[in-house]
Amino acid sequence: MFDLLIERFNKSLSKLSSTRKITEKQVNDVLREIRTALLEADVDYDVAKAFLKRVRERVLTEDLKKNISPTDSIVLTVYEELTNILGGEKADIKKGTVLFVGLQGTGKTTTIGKVAHFLKNQGFKVAVASTDVRRPAAMLQLEKLAERVGVPYYRFDETSPVSIAVKSKERALKEGMDYLLLDTAGRLHVDEELMQELKQIKEAVKPSEVLYVADAMQGQEALRVAKVFHETVPLTGVILTKMDGDARGGVALSVKSAIGVPIKFVGVGEKIEDLEVFYPDRIAQRILG
Ligand code: GDP
Repeated sequence: MFDLLIERFNKSLSKLSSTRKITEKQVNDVLREIRTALLEADVDYDVAKAFLKRVRERVLTEDLKKNISPTDSIVLTVYEELTNILGGEKADIKKGTVLFVGLQGTGKTTTIGKVAHFLKNQGFKVAVASTDVRRPAAMLQLEKLAERVGVPYYRFDETSPVSIAVKSKERALKEGMDYLLLDTAGRLHVDEELMQELKQIKEAVKPSEVLYVADAMQGQEALRVAKVFHETVPLTGVILTKMDGDARGGVALSVKSAIGVPIKFVGVGEKIEDLEVFYPDRIAQRILG
């Protein structure tokens, strides 16, 4: 993950010599290289443009930081702005009913298992349920995952997704759960019926979080779909899956600016443990090497 950015950022920033003065031309040259790197890594065009504008303005106008070289000062500015576009602060998961939404095949069900495992390890009481009544196989997949993680799976003899959602929430409250992780129907494409169903579930259970599960490998397309979801059921966060297979990682840099919600976790493999909390500052540090 981020291999390309790490390599390219290193290369461009290392061109700044450790001299005491850096010319505007040098700054422009470095920023031009960073721009190419960002776009090659599939960072949203507007996000890249705004990022470079801020870095350039700060580097050329702010007083250089005391006690560090001009080069380090530029690297620090890039680091701060990178942290910023990655979302700034680490985002928490609010207790309550957490709705997972997204298209089929993005890794939504697997991710619910991972998040259940993560929260359980943190000492929270977690239950899971699925409203994907059209795909019994998906429900069974979640039930098996819950069994492996060791958290209850709520099953109801119901055909209405909204009823399942409401009954699951009631049961979770009764059983004193900190979190109810609720899977929703996944389709291959966005359709009106799916959106209406999500809207109804959302209104019925008033979730604490609506998390959009996106496949990082799908690049900018994942963001376009996320925006469509966001218009119908306002999202509170994104989980990017399959980051282990995406050496570019540009989507991770684009989510916050493009949709306005933070990335909360990233999926980095198929196993239940393969989930990382998304720390913008640590990621920025990793990118800068
Ligand atoms: P759903 O249709 O969205 O519920 O998708 P699934 O949870 O069934 O996942 C689809 C495929 O993606 C499965 O083969 C998962 O093992 C795989 N998958 C999910 N998350 C990740 C991830 O972070 N990394 C990798 N490499 N594979 C993942």
